[in-house]
This record gives sequence, structure tokens and C-alpha cells, in this order.
Amino acid sequence: MGICDNRQKREGQKEMHKDKRSFPAVRRLINTFLDLLYPPSLYCCICGNFIDETRPYSLCDHCLEHLMWDSCGVRVQDGLKLLRCTQYGIYERTMIFSLKYSGRKYMAHPIGEIMKDKLEMEELTADVIVPVPIHESRRRTRGFNQTEEIGKDLAERTGMELLPDAVLRVRETRAMRGLSPTEREENIRGAFSLNADVSEKLHGKRVLILDDFFTTGATARAMASQIRLAEPEDMLFLAFAARYDDSFSFDRTTAESL
Ligand SMILES: [Zn+2]
Repeated sequence: MGICDNRQKREGQKEMHKDKRSFPAVRRLINTFLDLLYPPSLYCCICGNFIDETRPYSLCDHCLEHLMWDSCGVRVQDGLKLLRCTQYGIYERTMIFSLKYSGRKYMAHPIGEIMKDKLEMEELTADVIVPVPIHESRRRTRGFNQTEEIGKDLAERTGMELLPDAVLRVRETRAMRGLSPTEREENIRGAFSLNADVSEKLHGKRVLILDDFFTTGATARAMASQIRLAEPEDMLFLAFAARYDDSFSFDRTTAESL
């Protein structure tokens, strides 16, 4: 292949990339078509290796071994209980990114299954699930809220009630990726608001706040401050993957109350 051909190929790829960014609905349609052509239950959801349908979390042996499972229980930061399923690594990121940015909604199922197993392992439960909301404009572009999709799966598996509108995203924020802890805190400040129509459903309940990633805790704190207004019995922030600071304290005794 000559230089000219390579350049044409690159230009073609650039055009395809541009199209993908411009038309999320087209991207979703293509992914739905690919999912029908290659059923996700038959292929590892991270690397695409062939698997049989009985594999846990739709993962091949290799990816199952490389997920950085977190054996720790509940940790506490600023009075908020936190639980993560895995550390934040490339395999975990692949799972979330393909749900979030490639529109592969089926990825919510293995993540929901992993979360259910983590809660069972820690003997924790809750009454209601509140997924971290995204702004309406982002929902229009993406077509769905990835945490709500995970919440739907977890609710089905556990019988907890999903309350996707309990907290509303009232202000658009920048993507958190690449921001410093202070910038993240400023970015998320005032972004959430407790929905007065739903707040009664949180009163006196054990609330599970759900998110895909946990990094500095800015989102967790902002969500918790709104849910606290409804006077729940207890709150736990559950993230699929998280980076934790070593200074976090452990709290196993209070965790038993949730
Ligand atoms: Zn794999």
C-alpha cells in the first residue's frame, strides 16, 4: 500500500470518527447491529474472546484474572461510607468506557452482577438505589445514563427499588477526567438537587448511591449532601471501580447497620 493510500485510509478513518462523534444515534444503531451479529453472551465483554454462556460476568479467564478485585469492605471518608468492587485499572476502565461512550448497554449486566456479589460478600443491603444522574443535555447526546442502566440491573437482581429521579442534575458540568481534586470539587458544586416529589421515598430508608467510578469523592459528597436532606436511615456509596487514598479509614462496625 502506497503513501497516498495510507493517507486516504487515515482520512477515511478520521471521517468515520467524525461521523461517530456527530451522530450518536447512528453509533448506537451500529452497536445494536453488531450485538445482534455477535451476541455479547458468547464473547468476553472486555477482550472479545469466545466464551461459553455460563462464564461469570461474561468474562474470559484472562480478563477475570486481570480485574483488580477489591477485597476490602466499607471505608469511610468525611462520614460517608464507601464500597468499591474493583480498583481502577485498564480492564475496569474498558468496561465502563464501552458502556458509557460506545453505547454498549449490555455492559450494565456484568457490572450489576459484580456489584450484587460484592454487596452479598459484605453482607450489605439497602432499600433503594439512587444512581448518580447526568444532565438532560448529556442524556440526549448519549441516549441513556450509564449508572441508571447499572442500577436497573442491580435492582432486578436484588429487589431494591430504583429511584433514578430522586436526585436531579440541575447544572451542566465539565467531564471530571483530567481535573484536579479542587477543580472537581468546584465543578460539581451545586450540580445536584434533591427532587422534592421523590424525597419522601428516601426518608428513613437505607439508600445506596450508585456510580461507575470513584476518584476524589467530590461527586459522592455532593450527592450525599442532597440525599441527607431527606433524612434517610443510612447511606452507602457504591462504585464499580475506585482509586482510594491510603488515608481512608475503615469502618466495619457501622457498616453492619446498612
Ligand atoms: Zn477477555
